[in-house]
This record gives sequence, C-alpha cells and structure tokens, in this order.
Amino acid sequence: MHPKIANLADGLKETLVALRRDLHCYPEPGWTEFRTASLVVKKLKELGYEVHYGSEVIKEEAMMGVPTPEELARRQKQALEQGADPEIVARMEGGKTGVMAILDTGRPGPTLGFRFDMDANDVEEARDPDHRPFAQGFASKNPGAMHACGHDAHTAIGLGLAEVLVGIKDELKGRIKLVFQPAEEGVRGARAMVEAGVVDDVDYMLGIHVGISNRRVGQVVCGGQGFLATTKLDVTFTGVPAHAGGEPEAGHNALLAAATAALNLHAISRHSGGATRINVGTLVAGSGRNVIPSRAEMKIETRGATTELNDFVRERAYKILQGAALMHEVEVEIKETGAALGGEVSASLAQKLADIAKTVPGVTEVAEFGPAGGSEDYSYFMARVQELGGQATYVILGTEIAAGHHNARFDINEDVLPLGVKFLGEVAYRLSTTLPPTR
Ligand SMILES: [Zn+2]
Repeated sequence: MHPKIANLADGLKETLVALRRDLHCYPEPGWTEFRTASLVVKKLKELGYEVHYGSEVIKEEAMMGVPTPEELARRQKQALEQGADPEIVARMEGGKTGVMAILDTGRPGPTLGFRFDMDANDVEEARDPDHRPFAQGFASKNPGAMHACGHDAHTAIGLGLAEVLVGIKDELKGRIKLVFQPAEEGVRGARAMVEAGVVDDVDYMLGIHVGISNRRVGQVVCGGQGFLATTKLDVTFTGVPAHAGGEPEAGHNALLAAATAALNLHAISRHSGGATRINVGTLVAGSGRNVIPSRAEMKIETRGATTELNDFVRERAYKILQGAALMHEVEVEIKETGAALGGEVSASLAQKLADIAKTVPGVTEVAEFGPAGGSEDYSYFMARVQELGGQATYVILGTEIAAGHHNARFDINEDVLPLGVKFLGEVAYRLSTTLPPTR
C-alpha cells in the first residue's frame, strides 16, 4: 500500500480514539445529531472541504420517523449545552442533521462517495465497572441514549479518512464526497439525503459498518450481502366512542378494526419469489371498559428479500388496513416511519476492494462477500448510484465486541479505527487513480 497513507493513518490513532470516546460520551439518536454533526462540519471546514449541510442535503418531505418538535428542541438545547456550534446548529432546524463534504482535486477522474452514519440508539448504557466506557469515564452522559452499534466509530473513521485524503490530495484524481448520515437506526435517514441528490454524480460508492458478524480486528468483508428491504408503519384507527351499554350502535369501533387488521396482516400470502416477513409489533386500543373504543394504534413492519418482495407485502398490508377501516366505519391513518431497500452490491467493485485489502498491513482476513446483517438504509445510496450507472458496495470492518449490537454493554476494539482509515484511504487512492468515471 501507499506508505504515506499508512503513516498518516497510524499517526491518527490517538486522535481517533479520543474522537470516538468524545462521541461516545454524547450520543444523539436519529435526527437529533446536532452536536455530532456540528463537530463534523467544523472539522471538515478546518480541513478545507467544501461542506454542505442542513436543508442543502436533506429533503424534508423524505425524512421519516422524525421525533416530535418538543423532543427536537430538547435535544437541540442539550447539544448546545454540550458544546455544539450555535451557528451551525441553527442551519439544522427540524432535525436536518446531515452533512456532505466534497474534496475536488481539480484533475479529471471518477467521483467517489463514502457514507458514514452518526446516530445513537435508544439504549441506557450499562453503568458497571466491567463495562470499559463506564470504567474509563467515557460512558454516555445522555440518559436513554447510547452508541451501541458503533456509529461513533463510523463518524470517527470518516473524519480520519477526511484528514488522510487532504494529506495525499496532490496524488488523488477526480472528486471525493464524504456523506455523514443521520438516523440510520430505524432506517429513517438515508432516503432524505438520496432524494436531495447528494450521490447523483457518484461513480463508486462505499458504505461501512464495524462488527456485525465479524468479531476480529483485521477482518474485512468487501461486499455485504443479504440486505432485507423493509417498511415501518405507524397506523392509527380513529372511530367514534359511545356508551357500550346504552347506545353501542352509535359507536364506530377502532379496536375491532385494528384486531381485524392484525389477524389479516398475518394472513398475507407467502411469496414464491423469496422470503417475506410481517409483524404487528404493538396494538394499543380503547379507553375504558364501558366505552366503544374510538382509537387504536399499531406499529407494524414488513420485510422482503428484495425490494419487490417487500413491496408485495406492503401493498397488501395497505389494502388490509384500509379494508378493516371500511368494515368498521373508522378512519385509518398510515405513516411510513422508516424504510430500506433490498439490493445487491456491485460484485466487481467488491472484488477490487478485496484485492486492495490484501495489500494493507493489519488486514488479516479478506472476504469478497459476507452477510450484511439485516436491513440497512445505505441500500438507498446503493440503489441510486447503481440506477445512474455507477457501482456501490458495503464494507464490514471486523472488531471484537464486548456484547451484541444494541446491547447496553456494547463496546469495540478501537484498533479498528486506524485500520479502517488506512484501508479506506488506500481504497480512495487506488480507485481514484485507476478507475474511469462511469458516465
Ligand atoms: Zn448500525
């Protein structure tokens, strides 16, 4: 590999660890990454990037599962108290916490894209001496929020890569776009950035994740496979309340509509084309024993091995929900609060990455393909780039983990930080100098 990239990445180790620990201290769930994004914007500007953020990179109509205005305001205030830059935060109104930075070498070449997610989980971090972040004083300071999936590491790796690229700028070609995405958890954020057009000119796109089923630093999977397409639905049935003894016929029963829907949703046909899933995860209804229930709420998700299979389940689900409302003469409101597509990585790009990975010191096991681990809204970036003639893949960087993803005792081996930067720096160098634009 390029010795300068290796040296730059190795030299960043302490900075990366400190950065990841700072982010770990101040976790922010989806659409509330005000402090995190403000720090990202600042750092990228200092490095000389052209930085776009807020409504420039987030299409409001395509945002899914945005917290209530009260929750946004609370988190925004907290971010400012924890050191976020007020001028930057002011441009992220309504939760538009996405950031995209461009490094333009001025020389002809391809446009590369890298996506890093920044959000935390709704998890209360373990507070016991065996949990390293707590023992070493960098556990979450934000109640109910924790970086329990490694997105703090992703953000740190993204900023480390940004620094390395500046260090070798004179040897790069084309343009490099670094995308920092909010709200990956619940698959809510990617669509809004893709619809804002942030990757429409990208020829080669990479997304990364640490850990998943790769539990050793040094393992690199260059093409994550098996993305399940999914849709998350919040459903509200609204009927008319009435006295259950005195005048039941005057009521319109929202509970019965929801119950009818729940049973029939689970009766949606299997599909010969591949795996599908449906789950009615919650059903809350009614207000009292002697009242015809006028309100029912459900949280539902559909999944499919491909986007088409998920669409099949989702479309049937809509018909059943509407049909159940019609039967019981109630209103139904269906809100899509999250979604991810299926899709396949571009095999030839994954193979190129595998060749590059084998030249990086510290990388000990290289797989061209491996399981991506469920649903990921990176699939929106992948699909858009591929639709427009580009190539995209999803990289998994192995790390030891202290407990499973989304667990209160989750922690990583921080050696993955400099190794990730080293690998992605080399990928940027090799792709930018050897590959042509795809269009
Ligand atoms: Zn994750």
